[in-house]
Amino acid sequence: MSVDEFFLGAGRGETSYRDAMDRAVETVIETVANRERPHSGASPEELAAQFDDPVVPEEGQRLEMTIDEVAERVLRHSVDPSNPRCAAHLQCPPMIPGLAAETLLTATNQSLDSFDQAPAATVLEERVVTALCDLFDLPEDADGVFTSGGTQSNFQALLLARDRYCDQQFDRNVQTDGLPAAAPSLRILCSEAAHFTGKQAAHHLGLGERAVYTVPTDADGCMDLDELDAALDDLDRRDELPFALVGTAGTTDFGSIDPLPALADRAADRDLWFHVDAAYGGALAVSDEFSDHLAGIERADSIAVDFHKLFYQPISCGALLLRDGADFRLMARNAAYLNPEAHDEGGIPNLVSKSVQTTRRFDALKPYVAFRTLGRTGLAELVEHTLELADDAAALVREADDFELLGEPTLNAVVFRYRPRPGLSDEAVSALNAAVRRDLLDDGRALVARTTVDGVTSLKVTLLNPTATLEDVAAMLDAVRDCGDRVADTREVTA
Ligand SMILES: *Cc1c(COP(=O)(O)O)cnc(C)c1O
Repeated sequence: MSVDEFFLGAGRGETSYRDAMDRAVETVIETVANRERPHSGASPEELAAQFDDPVVPEEGQRLEMTIDEVAERVLRHSVDPSNPRCAAHLQCPPMIPGLAAETLLTATNQSLDSFDQAPAATVLEERVVTALCDLFDLPEDADGVFTSGGTQSNFQALLLARDRYCDQQFDRNVQTDGLPAAAPSLRILCSEAAHFTGKQAAHHLGLGERAVYTVPTDADGCMDLDELDAALDDLDRRDELPFALVGTAGTTDFGSIDPLPALADRAADRDLWFHVDAAYGGALAVSDEFSDHLAGIERADSIAVDFHKLFYQPISCGALLLRDGADFRLMARNAAYLNPEAHDEGGIPNLVSKSVQTTRRFDALKPYVAFRTLGRTGLAELVEHTLELADDAAALVREADDFELLGEPTLNAVVFRYRPRPGLSDEAVSALNAAVRRDLLDDGRALVARTTVDGVTSLKVTLLNPTATLEDVAAMLDAVRDCGDRVADTREVTA
């Protein structure tokens, strides 16, 4: 393979590029077409045994051969998020407009750190961000940036919250001078159902996980407001310094949405930074039917939203939105080699100053292509279908004698236990459901998640797939039953 064939450019490489892309696309189509189950069930040992030849051979081979190897060893054993019975996690089936956008953005390899590496992409990302701020009813001065996902959005939001607080309270510039002496007293409030990345961020921010004060939830998995008020009083009594209140719009297990207007009131009273982690639930903003579930989000200082979940875009794709774009000053960078013009030619946007990344993907293109192609209402239909399916699935579980429904779904996650006999102890139910989930993983017919509710092991399906039907849900429940019977039999035999 010559260098001319390898790189795309003025008249060079078209044939090689087209052949390679065609081959890749055909390979994906063949693999997907021949797959019945969401997962092959191969064990880590079986998978490892396939890769016994060298990763870095002395001499290479033709690209087609490598693609064929990847098809056989990797794609065949990849989980298939487009299968309606792949329902373990918030791993979405990627929509075709997003896959096309991914091809456009990777082939041109724009890097969003500086305008001269991504001129049109820089301007378009800013346009998409503005549209998102409008979608969440943020004010005129709002701004944002694309991120690798909720983890990075939550981290960056809490970093800005910490630094603004330290600036206002202690006249301390954390960017240049590091944490103030009072740092061990800084606190972040969130509910006990909030995503673990809040604690992770506290660690990364030098505050430690114990800086996160978790407020108990009510029966619906939402932050309990009396408990929040008690927590705030408790912090006062102990002279601790809360600086951020995190509300979740779509918790990982139940999809619960915290009472955002009441949280916004508390944050305003106490001058706390109000961050809303809407990584999962943010997509409701496109729906006329369900957007009122997000009421109050427009009062947030910052919002995390993921497009690689309920917006059906390929991984990775997320955004952080700020109510006051001027807060980005707290992390601005001026690397002379990246943006020399920024000093003498005002007005050239170099987005590196808004991001914790330097080289950065043009992920904003994916939601742009999706929005332009489906329109808001087209996207809304997908989201609405999955929420309605979750309600029907919950009804199916509720009516089955051998299943126990754990709460009504808020978004599209349904949490339940397999309880074949009413008299079974919680301990036995825990053991049974844990064994069922393991057995299902080997079986490959359905991928469901395992979680713990009130100390008892439970199962969860996250019905993200807009093509899934109630028959798919019934098939998953049947797979759970079969595995349950099998597990119970083995236990009796071995006992
Ligand atoms: C998925 C998720 C995260 C983590 O986001 P990543 O995109 O995986 O980095 C954080 N918070 C919530 C509520 C989530 O659903």
